[in-house]
Amino acid sequence: MKSRRFVLTFPPETTGEPITYNLIRKFDIMVNIVKADVTPGHIGHLVMEMTAPPGILNEGLEYIRGQNVECVPIDRRITYRKDMCIHCGACSAVCFAGALTMDRTTAELTFEPEKCVVCELCLTACPLKLFSIDLG
Ligand code: SF4
Ligand code: SF4
Repeated sequence: MKSRRFVLTFPPETTGEPITYNLIRKFDIMVNIVKADVTPGHIGHLVMEMTAPPGILNEGLEYIRGQNVECVPIDRRITYRKDMCIHCGACSAVCFAGALTMDRTTAELTFEPEKCVVCELCLTACPLKLFSIDLG
């Protein structure tokens, strides 16, 4: 058995296919939804952990991608140049996972790496390009 976390990005025009249901019923994959941000008509994100033998997991991933849904494993790490941050909040505005937030009291950026799902939205959102991916 192998457990891995993935970020699924759904296009605005979804087929209505019950993907998580099918992963459980058809592929016998254990699915744990960690975070969901899906609204019909908009690009949606889902963070989920899947547990299954490696071969089955790969079949499930092929199935997901066959539905025109992007599926990226979370095995990378985001870092940023904290010393150069001007606390403009542009990155926290796009961070749906809640890893980047603005402290209401200090008006400073807070980064909680354990919440990061490596969606990479902050990479383009930051006007100073302070974020990068550590492939560890
Ligand atoms: S990659 Fe950036 S925007 Fe995405 S979850 Fe991590 S910190 Fe937030
Ligand atoms: S977008 Fe860049 S400069 Fe602005 S708060 Fe985020 S890290 Fe700092």
